[in-house]
Amino acid sequence: MRLKDKVALITGGARGIGQAIAMTFAREGADIVIADVNLEIAQKTASEIESLGRKALALEMDVTNYDLVEAGINKILDKMGKVDILVNNAGITKDNLLLRMSQADWDAVINVNLKGTFNCIKAVCRPMIKQRSGRIISIASIIGLMGNPGQANYAASKAGIIALTKTVAKELASRNINANAVAPGFIQTEMTAKLSEEIKKKMLEAIPLGKLGTPEDVANVCLFLASQESSYITGQTITIDGGMVMA
Ligand code: NDP
Repeated sequence: MRLKDKVALITGGARGIGQAIAMTFAREGADIVIADVNLEIAQKTASEIESLGRKALALEMDVTNYDLVEAGINKILDKMGKVDILVNNAGITKDNLLLRMSQADWDAVINVNLKGTFNCIKAVCRPMIKQRSGRIISIASIIGLMGNPGQANYAASKAGIIALTKTVAKELASRNINANAVAPGFIQTEMTAKLSEEIKKKMLEAIPLGKLGTPEDVANVCLFLASQESSYITGQTITIDGGMVMA
């Protein structure tokens, strides 16, 4: 019960990696807020959390809209009393080679992944500053560290999250708020399930541990970053990639 009685807000927590983080945190005693654009699936995940004996709140929230995010945080404060942990997980891809990438696809990815992360941090930091404690965990990607053909928008958004994390860590350290990022590699989700056998084979050749990661692999590192055990760690990016990127 490493997160006993903590309240965690997980954006994009209805499915995929965010859902795994929500379930892992709930098993460790946290009450959970699932904020997602898809309210129906968010409510389904919230009921699964309630069946573990924890409180859960499903919120319809588009992280790109600051007013909606702020209203969502106020609702959480009203219903759950506080926010101890924010996990910025909502993220999208719209891949294309640079020459073919439209303005709209660039903007969409930067808006959800980077501006969405900024919006949530900005809205949550006031109550965290007041309570003199907080944990902010943002899901970046190894693509933000190494770049990838066809993913200029995604790579830039994830590199932006890493730099944003360092700045937030420096600004809020004196208020006992830790901010860290994780950079997953190839994780078994709906997204990677769709890839061809040939691409999967190539990916596996580049991973020293020789296998894809699971959403739980990511959730376990987030749990560590949310728990007391990581209290002396801030401004860092931890890769979860089977050894693909070694600094
Ligand atoms: P999914 O697409 O499975 O889940 C993302 C969730 O975010 C969905 O529920 C989605 O809703 C929601 N979402 C999308 N846009 C918004 C928005 N504007 N506001 C609120 N919620 C939103 O993705 P994954 O679980 O695979 O990825 C989660 C995070 O991990 C992302 O940030 C991704 O970039 C990162 N990541 C994933 C890797 C992988 O291999 N899968 C590797 C490295 C990083 P809806 O279902 O309606 O679209």
